[in-house]
Formats: sequence, structure tokens, C-alpha cells
Amino acid sequence: MFEMSMVPQMGMRVTPALLNLTRLLTLPTLALQQAVEQELNENPALEEIEAQDSPCFRCGGPTYDGVCVRCEAQSSTYEPTTAQNGDEETDPLLFIAAPRSLSESLLADLYASLPTSEHTLALALVGSLDDQGFLADELEDIAVSLGVAVERVQAVLIRLRELGPPGIATRDSRECMLAQLTMLEGQGIGNAYARAIILDHFEDLGARRYKQIAKALGVNAEAVAEAREFITQHLWPYPAQSALSDGKAANRTRYRTPDMAIMYHQDEDAFNVEVLNSPRRMLRLNPLYQELARNATELGEEERLHVQEYVARARVFLANLRQRESTLKRIGEAIVERQRDFLLHGVRHLNPMTRAEIATELSLHESTISRATADKTTTLPNGSLLPISEFFVAARNVQDVLRELIANELNPLSDQELAEMLSERGYPIARRTVAKYRDQLKIPPSHLRA
Ligand SMILES: [Zn+2]
Repeated sequence: MFEMSMVPQMGMRVTPALLNLTRLLTLPTLALQQAVEQELNENPALEEIEAQDSPCFRCGGPTYDGVCVRCEAQSSTYEPTTAQNGDEETDPLLFIAAPRSLSESLLADLYASLPTSEHTLALALVGSLDDQGFLADELEDIAVSLGVAVERVQAVLIRLRELGPPGIATRDSRECMLAQLTMLEGQGIGNAYARAIILDHFEDLGARRYKQIAKALGVNAEAVAEAREFITQHLWPYPAQSALSDGKAANRTRYRTPDMAIMYHQDEDAFNVEVLNSPRRMLRLNPLYQELARNATELGEEERLHVQEYVARARVFLANLRQRESTLKRIGEAIVERQRDFLLHGVRHLNPMTRAEIATELSLHESTISRATADKTTTLPNGSLLPISEFFVAARNVQDVLRELIANELNPLSDQELAEMLSERGYPIARRTVAKYRDQLKIPPSHLRA
């Protein structure tokens, strides 16, 4: 019934880093997608399935292998936090949406910024990108296959290059680095010889023939060394690389794709927070492995260990992915709760808020909040993109707020009224203290301010 030769790896190679929730929490979507790819390659008990074309007969949602995750989730005792209790039996399928891939993110960005008539063109261009982010097909071929003018494909390509990671949809590494250089120069960052070296001495650069480069350019070795340093610091040869989180790439402009979406429903006057996933791919425990694990006693010693090890590992991985998603969602909802004014009325209404406060509210550790919000971005109800870290602003000092309240008063406010207003804004101080601060700020009492 079970061919051991079909199984890719017999050795039990568990990579703790991948199983670690702390690490998964830190990764932005695209880097998470890469971690998932790696785990899929290494663990035969984990599988990815695509949505089928036949929608669910009950809700019209996507189905996976005949299962509608939405209806299944509603009819069972599905609980997103189940994994915390170490009891996954209530959710035997362990379905979880896969993180968005670079292609899916690019497509979502393009769809949002292009008229519907151009969506097929966007799909064809993104579909033509290889794993490294280079454009594999000729524009003319794409235009012919779609029966449209090449200019239209060209226009969508320009948009793709603007929206995607720097250098995306170029033809090769040289073109990629030139595109990145052009973008940097637009921001006032550059080097006098970088362009000439990439254009005319790309192979010499790769082969470290610095003396030849210096001679050809008529400059000294130091200038070439500086240019080389600039190039390695700021440019990279594969467009897709820049989309991923990389500690060494501090100087690189990373492609930002939203990890979360905050939406506003006007009819209900309510916000909705969604962690953005792949629209069509689900991860789950491989049913064959699940079945084998259930009947593990019938297997030989070696097979049994293999099956149990990989199934356990897949379960932990899926549970951690689910935990990451629910943690992000809870944090997003806590943020929305405190930043209503900002979300409705703009940046001037950003409320002071610290990670520690959110941590206390959600009974999480402050470092968990830091990890979950680091390097993540969200779309706002108005469609713009904001790093989640920008929601956290330190409380201003109470004297500044007091000064502002008085500066904006229509009629002079008494110290008691000021104390009440400060307390509403998160500064619970007594009337006497208001009087003291007011004196320090050399602001006269209310009866002298009229
Ligand atoms: Zn359904």
C-alpha cells in the first residue's frame, strides 16, 4: 500500500527555525511565502492545493479538493486559536490559506491601479515573469497572443515596473541593476562611475578585473573600488530578491506589498481587518500521510517514524501559520480600535499608542507585538499603504498637549475643564497639576485669558 521509494527524504531533518512561531511572525508575506516553499520541498506530509474551478454549491466560494473551507469552517468547531491548546483534532483538515506569492502581490497591485480592460494584459505580463523576476517573453509575442497593440502591453509593463520591486520585469541582471540605479538617482543617491561600469564593464566587474576598468575609464583604482562598493551596497542582480526580507540589504529599497488590509464599511460604520493571503492556494496536511499516521501501528518501525515525524512537523507548521495569522489580525483589530479617528480623518488624528499597551490589551508579550508589526504594511480604507509601525507614536508630553488645548480654545477653559480634557486624551492629572504646568508654561489662568 505504501511505496517507501516514493518518499523524497527518509532522514528526519527537522529545521527548528522554520517551525518556530517567533520567526514566522517576523516575516513579511513574501518572505513567508519563501519559507513555505522551502517547507513544502522538505516535508512530504505538507501539501499545497489550488482552488478548483467549480465553486461551492452552498456559498459560491472556492473549493479545494471538493471541500469548501468556508462552509467546512462554519459547520465544524473550527477555532483559529485551537493550536494553542495543542489540540488540533477539532480541525482535522488543517487547511490554511497560503501566503501570497510575489506574482499574486504584483497582480493585486496592478489590478488595483489599472482599468479592468487591461487586467488580461497584466496577467500575461506577470505570468511571463520567471522565478527571479525577469521577463521571459517578448512584448510582441504577448501582444499577438492577446490580439492587442504592443503599445498597450508596453504601457502595462511600465506600470508593473513602477509598482514592483526595483528592476522587476527587466531582461537580465545588467538591465535590472541599471533600472535600480535609475530609481536611486531619482532619489538623489548615486555614484559617478556606477552606470558606466554596469553598461560597459559588467563582465569585468563580475570577474573582479578592477585595474582594467580603471584604465578603460581613465580613473584611479580608488574610484573603481568606491563604485564597486556602491554597487554591492545598493544594487542586486535579481529583481525578485529585493522583494524578500534580508538583513544584509539594509540599503536596498524593498518592495512593499501589503500584509494586511483595513477596510471601512460605511453602512455599518465598522472597520474590518483582513490578513492578506493567496486568493487561490491552500496548505494542508497531505491526506495520504494523515491516513498513514492514523494507521501507524500497521507500519514497520522505520516507516512509522518517518510518517509520524513529518506529520507532526506539518501540523506544527500549519498551526504556527494559523497562529501568525490570528495574532496579526488581533493586533490589527486592536490598532483599529484605537486609531478610528486617524483612519477616518487622517494623520493629524493619530492617537498616541505604544506596543506595550497593545500587548497588555491582548495578553501578549511586547516583543510579540514588535515582531508581528516589524516590516509589515497595511492598506488603509483610502487605498494607501502604511507601514504598521507608523501607527505607534509615543505619547506627547503632557505640557505640549496642554499648550495645544489652550492655543485652540474658543473660550477660556478652566483648569478643571483642562484636567478633564487631558484625562480623556490619556493624561489623568489633577486640576492642581494643570495649574502647576500652566504656571511653568507661563500661561495665565482662564479669567485672565479672555
Ligand atoms: Zn461554501
